Amino acid sequence: MTVNLLDFDTDGLARLFSDLGEKPARTKMRARQVLQWMHQRGESDVGRMTDVAKALRARLAAETEIRVPQAVRDTLSEDGTRKWLLDVGGANAIETVFIPEDDRGTLCVSSQAGCALDCSFCSTGKQGFNRNLGVAEIIGQLWFAKQALGDFGAIDSAQRIVSNIVMMGMGEPLANFDNVVAALRLMLDDHAYGLSRRRVTVSSAGIVPAIDRLRDACPVALAVSLHAPNDALRDQLVPINRKYPLAELLAACRRYLERAPRDFVTFEYVMLDGINDSDAHARELLALVRDVPCKFNLIPFNPFPASPYRRSSNNRIRAFQQILLDADIVTTLRKTRGEDVDAACGQLAGRVQDKTRRSQRVVQIAQVH
Ligand code: SAH
Repeated sequence: MTVNLLDFDTDGLARLFSDLGEKPARTKMRARQVLQWMHQRGESDVGRMTDVAKALRARLAAETEIRVPQAVRDTLSEDGTRKWLLDVGGANAIETVFIPEDDRGTLCVSSQAGCALDCSFCSTGKQGFNRNLGVAEIIGQLWFAKQALGDFGAIDSAQRIVSNIVMMGMGEPLANFDNVVAALRLMLDDHAYGLSRRRVTVSSAGIVPAIDRLRDACPVALAVSLHAPNDALRDQLVPINRKYPLAELLAACRRYLERAPRDFVTFEYVMLDGINDSDAHARELLALVRDVPCKFNLIPFNPFPASPYRRSSNNRIRAFQQILLDADIVTTLRKTRGEDVDAACGQLAGRVQDKTRRSQRVVQIAQVH
């Protein structure tokens, strides 16, 4: 396939341009120019990059392309949440969600077609796994959203429509480490999107060695999907826990905070009726996270076809929240957004050609019950 310029950061473009015959002294400057055209002005035609030398433009036009994602569906929720289904080839499609709020606009970005971790309450997990997304496919979601929302151009950074990114779409970002980090660098690069590290969040189910690598490679805000206060329950809900149990996960969180742009980790906790939502669970959590500066974000469970759980009642969620608040832990309740168009947490399914055959098993289980 032809080289896609969206796959490269500044250094990668500089190397590419030098391979294409550009003088060494100029490659970095050219890389920055092309980066700005693509990621700050939304330009997808090298022919229109007027300040790039003609000879280089001609070679780029002949030998490379800027392949942007194509939407196969565009759905607007009653609450303003917008969901795009983007074609990534091979009969796979991924989902990207834009969530407008009063003081910010958050884009929820996918990192894989499907997910291999198989958390029992997650729709993406039930679909199985196909493949990692490439850098262009990850950064392309931001490119696409900005284009669709009219957010490219000379707009003052304070007036950005997309002000925050959360790597909370389909997939486990830290299981696609290199491509996710390259995309994060583009999000942060002043010659590309120029977002502050505090406004870019990676969410992980807890791949401990990769949390350490992220701390060293590209520390951004960290969210961890905790969902249970002890290993026995977490082993069931988040199977990766069997490999990286809670004590190791929390130690990795503490190490991460040494370099993180924020001085807390956000723990996500899905509220599953009768499973992990009792007062006793909340108290067990307090003991567990005693040594980790953190905030909690409680997520009411979002059902999907054949899901085996129910959402905790509002009263139960409030009581659980109060126990954490009484211990002085900032605890927010994630407002369910975009539920009418299946854009809420855990509902992103896209279209995954499952290679694990898990989706077949799920269909079989649904038929048995
Ligand atoms: N794999 C990463 C990124 C996904 S983020 C991670 O696990 O963190 C999406 C968040 O929504 C995670 O916290 C995930 O556990 C949660 N989630 C998944 N399914 C859900 C559901 N059905 N209802 C509510 N939250 C869900």
